[in-house]
Amino acid sequence: MKILMNAGPWLPVPPDGYGGIENVVATLIPPLRARGVKVVLASVGSSSIEVDELITAFPDGQFGHLQKPYNQVMGLAHAHQARVIEELRSRDDIDLVHDHLEVVGPAMLSAFGGPPVLHTLHWDLRKHASFYGSFPPGISVNGVSASQLARAPSALQAASLGPVHLATPLAGQPSEGGRGEHVIVMGRICGLKGQHLAARVCQKLGLPLVLAGPVSGMDTPAELEAVLQDPEHPLHGHPDVRYFHDQLAPYLDGDLVRWIGGVGGPSRDALYASARAALFPIQWDEPGGTAVVEAMALGVPPVGLRRGCLPELIDHGRTGWLADTEEQLAELLLRVEEIDPEECRREAEQRFSPSVMADRYLEVYGRAITRGLRS
Ligand code: UDP
Repeated sequence: MKILMNAGPWLPVPPDGYGGIENVVATLIPPLRARGVKVVLASVGSSSIEVDELITAFPDGQFGHLQKPYNQVMGLAHAHQARVIEELRSRDDIDLVHDHLEVVGPAMLSAFGGPPVLHTLHWDLRKHASFYGSFPPGISVNGVSASQLARAPSALQAASLGPVHLATPLAGQPSEGGRGEHVIVMGRICGLKGQHLAARVCQKLGLPLVLAGPVSGMDTPAELEAVLQDPEHPLHGHPDVRYFHDQLAPYLDGDLVRWIGGVGGPSRDALYASARAALFPIQWDEPGGTAVVEAMALGVPPVGLRRGCLPELIDHGRTGWLADTEEQLAELLLRVEEIDPEECRREAEQRFSPSVMADRYLEVYGRAITRGLRS
């Protein structure tokens, strides 16, 4: 089987640090290739993952699009997708397109009428209900959790081949020094991820908290400071920047509660592996929760609010804790020692490993091809 994996133009695969979709694609490609699937990756020139072919519209990631007006963002997405379609027109050896490009991806591919398409839904579907309500026909979709799909508009329910949970290549023991005292929140800094709640809880309990993740694409405190100081900067009024300034910054005391910016590679993994717990005080219905399975894979118990996909990923009392209120979150954070790290690791290996995800995708690819050829 040969597939065209369309990761979009935003970040390289694998990403240097933060990168939701790009991390998923980077986790999926090696086990697919190990199972004999040939992979043509549509991404950006700086992608370094080993694939059979790489096709690109841009040399580097266009994630800086956050600083551009909406029509320019759409222009970048269209330029990337036009390159994908040009490629598909020039060859007939692709059995399936596995598309991850939000909004323009499936619409353009459907209009072109090439090989069967599977589009993976990565977002909270209510957020894009207007687009997904008129989803193009003839395309299969999969979600990243059952709870995400349960909220899908009917057009998507009809196209759905079910959920495929996210996975992680991370595995291992706590760092050599053993578990540290700090709690982490790993993820984009934004109201949806609820970092302010984590800050409030940890401050109340006197637990050190490390917040890692970019603010609107900015990885360093210096970059963010420059934007905050400059009212003319296009990102100055960005909702995530305002969230940081208004709701999170008041808790940052440089001691107990710290924001360290975006982290990547070994420093991200070391931060996870030395943590006492990973907190998920989410304020939305988290669709897939990569960071939850990453924490579990490293034996770091996740403690989160019972929303979105979290109840599907965390077995309350065995592989982590699920809370209904902020008070409960604080209580359960103090009971994190009751969760056996080995149990977390075993669960991640059995349910969220790259090979489990690849096997599941192969099954879904087969169904998407059959359906696509029939339509
Ligand atoms: N991530 C990272 N560095 C950071 C913050 C996040 O490498 O500073 C990674 C995180 O480990 C995960 C991915 O970015 O693999 C996306 O995280 P998540 O699924 O929580 O976020 P979302 O896709 O909702 O933005």
